[in-house]
Amino acid sequence: MSVLVVGSVALDSVETPFGKADNVLGGSGTFFSASASHLTTVRLVGVVGSDYPVERLQPLAHRGVDLAGLEQAEGESFRWRGRYRHDLNSAETLETRLGVFSQFRPKIPDAFRQTPFVFLANIDPRLQLQVLEQVEKPKLVAMDTMNFWIESRRADLLKLLGHVDLITLNDGEARQLTEQSNLVKAARWIMERGPAYVLIKKGEHGAFMFHGRSVFYAPAYPLEDVFDPTGAGDSFAGGFIGWLARTGDLSEANRRRAVVYGSAMGSFAVEKFSIDRLLEITPAEIGTRVKEFHQLVTFDAVLP
Ligand code: AMP
Repeated sequence: MSVLVVGSVALDSVETPFGKADNVLGGSGTFFSASASHLTTVRLVGVVGSDYPVERLQPLAHRGVDLAGLEQAEGESFRWRGRYRHDLNSAETLETRLGVFSQFRPKIPDAFRQTPFVFLANIDPRLQLQVLEQVEKPKLVAMDTMNFWIESRRADLLKLLGHVDLITLNDGEARQLTEQSNLVKAARWIMERGPAYVLIKKGEHGAFMFHGRSVFYAPAYPLEDVFDPTGAGDSFAGGFIGWLARTGDLSEANRRRAVVYGSAMGSFAVEKFSIDRLLEITPAEIGTRVKEFHQLVTFDAVLP
C-alpha cells in the first residue's frame, strides 16, 4: 500500500561538530520520502520556491517517489538553519524561513486522495488540517510536529490531535505539548485527546510506542559515528509508516517490527549529511541492520 506524505521540502544549512553543509536537501517531507521509499511507494505533497534545485530531487523520483503533488511557487524556498553541539540529541534552530510555505495551501491531486496511509510530516498544523479535509477514509493517519509549532500554533495542534490515529514526537516535544514531565503520563495525556498510538523518540536513547496499556521500547542502534542528526526523526517515521504500509498490518506484533524499521532508517540517516546515506543504502544493508537490532535486544530470561 502507498503512503501520502505532506511536509516541508527545504534547503538546510547545518553545522555539527564534524562539519558544515550549506543549502542541502532537507525538510520533513524529503527525509520521510527518502526513508519510506525503501519499503513502499510514496506520494509527496509540498511546495518549493523558484530558487529550488528541483533536479536534485530526481534521485527520489528514481526511488519511486511520486512528485506530482510537489508545487513550485514564485518566491523563496523553505530554509532551516541549525546547529548541533556535542550533545547530538537536540538541534539548536538558528533560523527558520518559511518562504513559499507561508502562502502554501496543500492541494492533494485526485489520484492521491484515496491513499491508505497518510503521514502529516512536520509543517504548520493548519496545513496538516487542510490535508485531512481532502483525503478519503485512510486506513491510518499519522502526524509529527515540533517545538516551533507547539509554541506558535497550539490551538490548531490540539484540534488536529482529535483527527489523527498516531503521533510521533520527541521527548522534549511531548513534555512541552502536554506539560507533563513523566513520559508515560504525557503519552496518556495525548491518547486522551485522540491518537490511539503515541511514539515518543528519545534520540540516541531509543523510542517508546504506547497504545492503550501496552508499551514497547526499542533502543537506538549504537552507532560509533553519528555525523549529522538532522532528519533522524522524519527517517524514523518513514521506516515506521513505510513498514506498516508495506505490510498493511497494524497488529501489535507488526507495529513492534515497524518501530525497529523506524530505528534502522533513523540510524542510516545520521551517517551522512542530508539524505545522502538514505539514497545509497541497499535492501541488504537494511536487512542486516534489522537483524542486528534483533541481536541487540534478545536475551534468554532465566528466573531466580
Ligand atoms: P528532524 O527529523 O526532526 O531532525 O527534522 C529535520 C528537518 O525538519 C530539517 O530538514 C528541516 O528542514 C525541517 N524543519 C525544521 N524546522 C521546521 C519547521 N518549523 N517546519 C517544518 N519543517 C521543519
